[in-house]
Amino acid sequence: MPEAVEVIPLVAGHCLNVAALTDRGGRWRVRAYPAGFALLRHPTRGPVLFDTGYSARVVAAMRRWPGWVYGVVTPVRLRPGEAAAEQLAALGIQPHDVRHVIVSHLHADHVGGLHDFPRARFVQDGRGAHALTPLRGVRAVRRAFLPELLPDDVHARTDALRFTAAPPGLAPFPHAADVFGDGLIHALPVPGHAPGMIALVVRTAPGAALDGDGTGLTLLAADAAWSVAALRRGQDVPAVARVAFWDAAQERASARALAAWLERHPRARVIVSHDEPEPARVDVAHA
Ligand SMILES: [Zn+2]
Repeated sequence: MPEAVEVIPLVAGHCLNVAALTDRGGRWRVRAYPAGFALLRHPTRGPVLFDTGYSARVVAAMRRWPGWVYGVVTPVRLRPGEAAAEQLAALGIQPHDVRHVIVSHLHADHVGGLHDFPRARFVQDGRGAHALTPLRGVRAVRRAFLPELLPDDVHARTDALRFTAAPPGLAPFPHAADVFGDGLIHALPVPGHAPGMIALVVRTAPGAALDGDGTGLTLLAADAAWSVAALRRGQDVPAVARVAFWDAAQERASARALAAWLERHPRARVIVSHDEPEPARVDVAHA
């Protein structure tokens, strides 16, 4: 059995946003941003999802008050066949085959498809749910949270990540969670953009070392940056966009920690939710 996880980046819909809000020096024009998620083929856990992107349920929620407000601020484009469950079916994976969805954070463009995986456990940092799930109505929408996207039994199906002292190869992060206890997927707390947001460091090549140069590792950084380039440069988001953050100081600290980790792991593949993923590297350890 291969001691590695295959990471397949996918996109379930797009949102429209003004480029000047996401990119320093970006223009005041509307751009479509992919709602990325990832299929992680795990050697013992089977198909694991990291987020789900949008689904028809999000589009429906945006036709009603108060979700309508979200749809006005961030219009969504979802084509037939684009939802996560439909794309997985095209890959031969049925909804009940998915036993784990690792949730980066609870924004609507990340949890839109949770209802479509009725046998999945939801793996997440409990601090995000603690902060957001009590919110209702416009207060929830203001936080990009649409409560109806969470299944009624979400609490019973949630596995809260347990963070412990991180291995040295994940410095400068003091804490990390070994998601399945096998060392293949580590979750890093990167709060700020949303409460309890996590990034993942995934071993994609057998024997890949956390304390090497990043060869054989993939960083899934969720919404810690709008683009891979900005994340690698440790670049601040435009000030005008910071008002949308849950905690701007935390966001800055999280982005800096990820940039510092990437500086020590320059060969890691980087994927952020709303940008083209870096191509998979074909090299293996010691290449
Ligand atoms: Zn988000």
